[in-house]
Amino acid sequence: MSADNSPAPALDQPLLRISGLERTYGTTRVVDAISFDVHPGEVVTLLGPSGCGKSTTLRMIAGLEEPDAGEIWVRGRLVASPQRGIMVPPESRNMGLVFQSYAIWPHMTVNENVAYPLRLRRLDRNTITTKVADVLRLVRLDTLGERRPNQLSGGQQQRVALARALVYEPDLLLLDEPLSNLDTVLRKEMREQLRLIHSRLRTTLLYVTHDQEEAMSLSTRVIVMNQGRIEQTGSARSIYDLPSTRFVQDFVGQTIWLLGQLDSEARRPLVRIGGGTVEVTPDRLQGLSHGAAVEVSVRVEDIHLQHQAGGADDDGLPGEIIDVTYFGDRQECAVRVIGAETQVIVVNTIKSRTLAPGDRVALRIDGARMTIWPS
Ligand code: ADP
Ligand code: MG
Repeated sequence: MSADNSPAPALDQPLLRISGLERTYGTTRVVDAISFDVHPGEVVTLLGPSGCGKSTTLRMIAGLEEPDAGEIWVRGRLVASPQRGIMVPPESRNMGLVFQSYAIWPHMTVNENVAYPLRLRRLDRNTITTKVADVLRLVRLDTLGERRPNQLSGGQQQRVALARALVYEPDLLLLDEPLSNLDTVLRKEMREQLRLIHSRLRTTLLYVTHDQEEAMSLSTRVIVMNQGRIEQTGSARSIYDLPSTRFVQDFVGQTIWLLGQLDSEARRPLVRIGGGTVEVTPDRLQGLSHGAAVEVSVRVEDIHLQHQAGGADDDGLPGEIIDVTYFGDRQECAVRVIGAETQVIVVNTIKSRTLAPGDRVALRIDGARMTIWPS
C-alpha cells in the first residue's frame, strides 16, 4: 500500500494530481476520464449542475470511494490507483472534509467536536486546548465552546464543521456544497469568512458547488464539469468572458442566443441579426467565413436598450417593446427583434425610464462582448 517507491517531491509539484479518473455506477460513467492539478494555496472549484459527478470526484479524492480507473497523487505520493492495487484509506490522506450536512456530533459540545480529530491523533491535552481555542477564534465561535449543536444556528454548526476540519491543519480541505443548507444572508457571510480564512491560513481548498456565484467569488481557478467531464478550466473571468463551449456559455451567467449571418466582406466584420448589424472583432470569428450562418451568444448585461432616434441606420438591432415588467429596483423589457420575428430578448433597464409596449428601440451590443458559434 505504501508509496515509498513514488518519485521524490519536486519543487513545482502539485499538491494534488488527478489523472484519468473514472467511476461508473451501473451502466453510467459518472466520472469520465477527469484530469487536473491543484497547487499549494489554490482555491479550485468544481462547478457544474446537479448529477454531473462533482461529489463522486471529491469522494474519490477523499478516499471514501474507489475509482474504477485513473490515479490520485497527493504531494507526489500515489494514494489511489486501481491498476496498481493502491487505495490509501481516508484517514491516511491528511485531508479535511466539510459536507453540506454538518455531520457534527450532537452529544458533544463545540469544544469536544473540534478537539475530536486531535484526540484521535493522540495530541497532548495542552496542545489540544490551544489549537481548539485558536481555530474557534478563527471561525468566530470562541464564546460558544461549551454549547451543544442543538443550541447553535445552522451557520454556527457549519462553522463547527469547518473548525473541526481545519484544526489538524490538513494538506487539502475538501468542501462539498458546504453552504447549500444556509439561507442567502448566512451563505454570503460564510463565503466571506471562507475567503478570510483562506487568506489567513493559505490552506489549499478544493470546493464543490453548483452555485456559480460561490464558485466565481471564492476561486483562484474554476473547473466547469458536465456529465462527468471537464468542459473548461480557468479563472472566473476567463470562464465568464471566454466560454469555450456552449455548455459553459449557458451554465455560467445569463445568456441570450441569437441567430445571424456573418458578413466579413464589409470593411469591418459584421454579424447581421434580424434587421440590424453588430460589428465584431476579427479574433472572435473562429475561422468562420463570409456568409456563414452563425449563432451569437451575449450576456444579458451586455445588451443595452435605447429609444430609436428614428431612421438612423447606425449599428444596433431594431426592436419593438412587447412587454414591460416593473420590479421596484429595475424594470424588465421584452423586446422583439425586428426582422427576426421569433427572437425575443428580455433586458433590464433602469426603473426611471418611461418605456411602453409598442415603443421602437435599438438594442446595442458591444461586438467585443459577443461570442460567435457555427450554427
Ligand atoms: P453531483 O455531486 O455533481 O451532483 P454526484 O457525483 O453526486 O453528482 O452523482 C453523479 C451521478 O452518479 C448521479 O447521476 C448520481 O445519481 C449517481 N450516483 C452517485 N452516487 C451513486 C451511487 N452510490 N450509486 C449509484 N449512482 C450514484
Ligand atoms: Mg453533489
